[in-house]
Amino acid sequence: MAALDVRIIPVMSDNYVFLALEPETGSVAVVDPAVGGPVLAAADALGWEISHILITHPHYDHVGGIEEIKAKTDARVIGAVGDASAIPGIGQTVADGESVRIGHAKARVIGVPGHTGHHVAYWFEEAKVLFPGDTLFSLGCGRLFGGTAGEMWSSLKKLRDLPDDTLVYPAHEYTNANADFALTIEKSNKDLKARAKEVLSQREKNLPTIPTTIAQEKLCNPFLRADVASVQAAIKMKDANPVDVFAEIRKRKDNF
Ligand code: ZN
Ligand code: FE
Repeated sequence: MAALDVRIIPVMSDNYVFLALEPETGSVAVVDPAVGGPVLAAADALGWEISHILITHPHYDHVGGIEEIKAKTDARVIGAVGDASAIPGIGQTVADGESVRIGHAKARVIGVPGHTGHHVAYWFEEAKVLFPGDTLFSLGCGRLFGGTAGEMWSSLKKLRDLPDDTLVYPAHEYTNANADFALTIEKSNKDLKARAKEVLSQREKNLPTIPTTIAQEKLCNPFLRADVASVQAAIKMKDANPVDVFAEIRKRKDNF
């Protein structure tokens, strides 16, 4: 049973970088290092040696630390084949459906275009851990910079289909603002109201609101609920195509 010990490193204003240890082999992956120094310091403090760098997409706040970390650790940089030219020091390219190994832990690569054209997520099935980058946030989703609403909706549905108890580690702390928006869509969703309250109290204590779970997001995240009748009714789009409903919710969030 290949477990993963995941640690959350808050950096910059609202980014999260993750360190994931596979304890049997001591292999350690960094996910989306926005910066180098704080990540190296965190690994040092844990006594962990970074062996892999997993990249979900090449925005600066996900790749900015690669060069510094690679120079210190010679870690292998892994990212989407379509983004190879945009990822500094890339040593292994991956595509949808392929897998990568961190020691004994295996991650399936899931192609999730929408936020960017070649965005990938890393799903560690046995460890029940998902790194969705900027595709799925707690109570939200990424903006459409590199794909269509149709592509993003399909990508989100792929993530929604993962097991309910999957722990989800999004790359940003946006949950409180996302909750405020989600409540404008579903004022009477009891699960959402409870989650919004919980999130507020976590943020007041300066605690991360992640990991979340697929089960939690299915109940509360409006972007995963574009095909739910109560959501469609709430925005007066009953029986509409879920892609159109998703696009409308995304548009409202862009203007929120
Ligand atoms: Zn991004
Ligand atoms: Fe980002």
